[in-house]
Amino acid sequence: MKLLVATNNQGKLKEFNKILGELGIECVSLRDMGIHADVEETGTTFLENALLKAKEIYNIAKIPTISDDSGLMVDVLDGEPGVYSARYAGEPSDDNRNMDKLLAKLKGEPNRTARFKSVIAAVFSEDDILVSEGECEGVIIDEKRGDNGFGYDPIFYVEALGKTFAEMTDSEKNSLSHRGNAIRNLKEQLKEKEL
Ligand code: IMP
Repeated sequence: MKLLVATNNQGKLKEFNKILGELGIECVSLRDMGIHADVEETGTTFLENALLKAKEIYNIAKIPTISDDSGLMVDVLDGEPGVYSARYAGEPSDDNRNMDKLLAKLKGEPNRTARFKSVIAAVFSEDDILVSEGECEGVIIDEKRGDNGFGYDPIFYVEALGKTFAEMTDSEKNSLSHRGNAIRNLKEQLKEKEL
């Protein structure tokens, strides 16, 4: 079975293929399908945004479509930057400015606990939709460490591996990341579903 992943990010596509490929599912990107769509993420929750995008792309492609929305939630900031993670320091989106804004807000703050959250919506038809979620807990450190990855990776430290996301290899990060966990959760739901 073919699943359209509503992304052009090759890293994401690879991760979906690695995990869902075990079920015989082939994941393809928007580019693979020749679809050019820029869906505005106007929702106020990860779920709203994931559903919005998956439904809109499904209506264009008419094949089963997955979309994920994710972001960083810092406990002492009541879940900021949350759904605004990509544009926390304004438009255009800039990873370094976003991290600097967050570090400035946390200056002198001893409570640094945070989590990444990912929500995936999988649309098979208008009334056949699966939702899965994944989280990864960590702490926000004061300096940027490592140069792998993107977004807030250099300041998100995971105790279990003693590394930031940006210091991990792709497979280390995928084994415990929010997105990896959400895809593994989706895989379990797909096993129960007649495809
Ligand atoms: P998206 O929903 O995957 O596009 O992610 C939205 C934003 O959340 C990104 O632009 C990043 O700022 C942040 N983000 C999501 N996942 C990660 C991650 O794995 N590492 C670092 N930042 C992330």
